[in-house]
Amino acid sequence: MGRALAYAKGPRTATPQAPIAFLDRDGVINLSVDGHVSHPDQVRLIPGAASGIARLRREGMAICIVTNQSGVDRGWTSETGIHAIHDRLTELLLEDDEEAHIDLTLTCPHTPWHGCGCRKPESGLLRLGAHLIRTAGWKGTLRGRTDLPPSTASLGTALDIMVGDRRSDLMAGHGHGARSFRAPRDLGLQPVLHRLLDHEDRGDEVW
Ligand SMILES: [Mg+2]
Ligand SMILES: [Zn+2]
Repeated sequence: MGRALAYAKGPRTATPQAPIAFLDRDGVINLSVDGHVSHPDQVRLIPGAASGIARLRREGMAICIVTNQSGVDRGWTSETGIHAIHDRLTELLLEDDEEAHIDLTLTCPHTPWHGCGCRKPESGLLRLGAHLIRTAGWKGTLRGRTDLPPSTASLGTALDIMVGDRRSDLMAGHGHGARSFRAPRDLGLQPVLHRLLDHEDRGDEVW
């Protein structure tokens, strides 16, 4: 199965009832830099990402980043390096908009051939996010490897959303039962924000 990397930096504000916005990272929140951000200095926010996240929070949503980073198991970056990137990302978001707090950041560190349950298009990261936010909880800071809940666990709600720039993001979102939206790569949340807020919008099919 494999264990996912969990990162959270307090305060913990999400309530167990909150719908969750699952957001892909590279290409949706920060510029994708050819697919790999391997150092905190490479993190560049997409314009409007912070205000988009703040808008979703004002709608009462919890925010959970779900990202594939096979560079960890390939040896290109370390777990410590991943946490440093997420320190930088959360710092930049809050500098841009003080309401742009990320509740939880979950990373699949595995290679495609590992057969883990967390690498998107699998929906294990979303299941884990829902499990932590809805049932397990945590106190303040979270940094470490975490087991996935069993695949039979039903933790999604009809109000959860997933936003990503790849097919695998939408497949993971559909697998979780979330309304799933394709964001244009490196333009991020703003072009789809009005759709995310419209509960009648059923989201995008996998293309
Ligand atoms: Mg992406
Ligand atoms: Zn994985």
